[in-house]
Amino acid sequence: MADREAIGGTLVLGGGFAGGYVARLLGKRGATIVSPENFMLYTPMLPEAASGTLEPRHVVVPLRMMCPHAEWSYPVSVDTSG
Ligand SMILES: Cc1cc2nc3c(=O)[nH]c(=O)nc-3n(C[C@H](O)[C@H](O)[C@H](O)COP(=O)(O)OP(=O)(O)OC[C@H]3O[C@@H](n4cnc5c(N)ncnc54)[C@H](O)[C@@H]3O)c2cc1C
Repeated sequence: MADREAIGGTLVLGGGFAGGYVARLLGKRGATIVSPENFMLYTPMLPEAASGTLEPRHVVVPLRMMCPHAEWSYPVSVDTSG
């Protein structure tokens, strides 16, 4: 796989609450989010999804919508030496 640099020089590991909000707050500077999922799971509403009062699709936030200037990538390997 070819080497790639993180967008805006910021690599965010994990697209959960911390990673998603960091990438969002970086705004137009952008970032590269490395995470197994391309969405943020809104955990406080998981009980409603499990009990059927909310549809599961309503407790996930696509990272491409939450962080429009960031790119998402599936974790493969990260070289932190550079
Ligand atoms: C049912 C439930 C209800 C909750 N309700 C509340 C609440 O009401 N209020 C509150 O304050 N907190 C609540 N929490 C706690 C809250 O969800 C966590 O504190 C918060 O998600 C932690 O954020 P985080 O970014 O550290 O981790 P996470 O949000 O869990 O994000 C971690 C991310 O890292 C990714 N990841 C994992 N392994 C790798 C890897 N090897 N490489 C790259 N990425 C990886 C994961 O896929 C995920 O996207 C709740 C939790 C649960 C489970």
